[in-house]
Amino acid sequence: MNEAQKPLTKTRNIGFIAHIDAGKTTLTERVLYYTGRTYRLGEVHEGTTVMDWMDQERERGITITAAATTTEWDGHRINIIDTPGHVDFTAEVERSLRVLDGGVVLFDAVAGVQPQTETVWRQAERYSVPRICFINKMDRLGADFLRTVDMITDRLRTKVAVIHLPIGSEASFRGVVDLIERRGYEYEDDKVQEVEVPASMAADVERFRDEVVERIAETDDELTMKYLRGEEITVPEIKAALRKATISNALVPALCGTALKNKGIQTLLDAVIDYLPSPVDVRAIQGVNPKTLETMERTAEAEQPFTALAFKVTSDPFVGRLVYLRIYAGSAKTGAIVLNSTRDERDRLGRLVRMHANHREEVDEIFPGEIVAAVGLKRTLTGDTLCDPRHPILLETIKFPEPVISVAIEPATRAQQDKMDEALRKLGDEDPTFQVRQDEETGQTIVSGMGELHLEVLVERMRREYTVEARVGKPQVAYREAITSRAVAEGRFVRQTGGHGQYGHVWVEVEPLERGKGFEFVNKIVGGKIPREFIRPVEMGARAALESGVVAGYPLTDVRVTLFDGSFHQVDSSEIAFRAAGSIAVREAVRRANPRILEPVMRIEVVSPGYALGDILGDLNSRRSRILNIEGHGDTQVVKANVPLAETFGYATALRSLSQGRATSTMEFDHYAEVPASLAEEIMGKVKVLSNSGARS
Ligand code: GDP
Repeated sequence: MNEAQKPLTKTRNIGFIAHIDAGKTTLTERVLYYTGRTYRLGEVHEGTTVMDWMDQERERGITITAAATTTEWDGHRINIIDTPGHVDFTAEVERSLRVLDGGVVLFDAVAGVQPQTETVWRQAERYSVPRICFINKMDRLGADFLRTVDMITDRLRTKVAVIHLPIGSEASFRGVVDLIERRGYEYEDDKVQEVEVPASMAADVERFRDEVVERIAETDDELTMKYLRGEEITVPEIKAALRKATISNALVPALCGTALKNKGIQTLLDAVIDYLPSPVDVRAIQGVNPKTLETMERTAEAEQPFTALAFKVTSDPFVGRLVYLRIYAGSAKTGAIVLNSTRDERDRLGRLVRMHANHREEVDEIFPGEIVAAVGLKRTLTGDTLCDPRHPILLETIKFPEPVISVAIEPATRAQQDKMDEALRKLGDEDPTFQVRQDEETGQTIVSGMGELHLEVLVERMRREYTVEARVGKPQVAYREAITSRAVAEGRFVRQTGGHGQYGHVWVEVEPLERGKGFEFVNKIVGGKIPREFIRPVEMGARAALESGVVAGYPLTDVRVTLFDGSFHQVDSSEIAFRAAGSIAVREAVRRANPRILEPVMRIEVVSPGYALGDILGDLNSRRSRILNIEGHGDTQVVKANVPLAETFGYATALRSLSQGRATSTMEFDHYAEVPASLAEEIMGKVKVLSNSGARS
């Protein structure tokens, strides 16, 4: 075996999953410290943490990008995939959850399960990521491990296996008892020491141990029998069964500590090794043959054909474009030519690097289960599959939503134009939900993204990382159009000019599709009424016609176009003529099919102190919201609502003044919905005025 290749069973690809402020940055920092790769403890407020490369993250205290860091513990390689805690950045969360095998979910021992913990928990659940719960901040006044465990059980509807009990509490919290092993651990500075189980805890330890052993035994037939017969179950048996139960998502182990005060980190790392899956414990990766679309499977073995997923692109100041890869099967060497099966193009793995917290390690060859960054890939974007050109496979891509908001942007000085274009290109390369385009009519640069905060963060990054000062216009909502009934129409494109003429003639039907379905084209031409080579041009003409709808010029979506009749001319018919006929027919059909304007609707979650609830609801109502749910835990109220994006601009500021700064909110795109008639008229009016003055943006 290659020295660089750790046995796969000794690899863990994990992420720390938490909402903002639970202590993820601090914990990551401590883990890197204890695993010996960084030599100085950084504290968040000093801004020296290792994982948060970007100034802005440091300032806002939120981690936006998903980098991956490799480290080692007890003979195992641990790859930590950074997962953002801010739920506004869903695309980032989803992509990191796709490539990790297990997660450590952080809780604040005082606050317990917070509304936003539920959000990140559900995301992990959707991807069936096996989890461990780490109850952090045990040193804080009011910290309560068991209460938090109860909250996890009730609110997250989860079967918890309590494997630690805290020794001491709040300011006197000094260690943990490992229930399975009946061993105590205390932490002093950055050392851990084994101690006797305190006599005062002996009864509790036995009671909780019995409980957890029973719970673990229940997940395994053989152990159940042993338990019922009253036989002693050994420590290795308990651990093996708990490992199996954790990986199958039957149980979630819970332990505790404090990242800030350096207690419980080593025991957490041991638990990561003991209970979270290695790449061989998880299901074989599924994909399809890109040509036949036949389902296929690859197991995590070096002998299999090379199969990898690109899950993150960053531009690095030192080496340029870095593409993070998760290798699922096979191996590849530096310089290898691989197939990007998503784009059906070849690309080259230049250098391969493993990113450690404070250095980069060049590697010659990569193996299954690994997470590495590749330098030199030119065409590969986030979500693409890379594979052996002789054995193509296409993995399920990471789906990203279309942007819903846009703003015009210009550099503060003309001289910075080129620099701004370059910066925007790089930012767009890194973030698939951020798009840049030129408005043909006005020549303005328009950037689009998933919400106001998303665009603010990107403009801010441009200022810091690329020293480009930019001015942005007012945010514009990305409206769409859709039809509400069926209609048919004819399209004729016939020109008789001198010698060679033009002849294209089609009949099409349009019908509405379910929201989010996009565009479908169906060909029902039989008997050669239209020769085969002209069908595709009709489809292209239809697509072109839908790019700007007939109500107010917004893209038309969720429509099926069926080509069902037409005719052709032996001499005069051409691709261009059928393209034009297709366009004409679809535009006319859409006009007859009662088109409407759609607007993006966000899903907002507001966490508020009870006294501000009335004002917050009143304000939401004035924003055309639909309240979905109001839930109260103690003095904290959580409101979930749908709000049209157009009504959310400046919401963060409004919320601050409604609640004296005590309420917080997050929002993400939810769906498109029809705008009310009065508003539709307003939108149409605006479009008219602007296009008359020739200054639409
Ligand atoms: P993140 O937003 O999840 O990355 O959280 P941070 O690591 O930035 O921590 C948020 C705040 O909680 C910071 O002020 C930390 O110093 C503090 N913090 C983190 N861990 C602990 C802990 O174990 N105990 C206490 N008392 N504070 C902590």
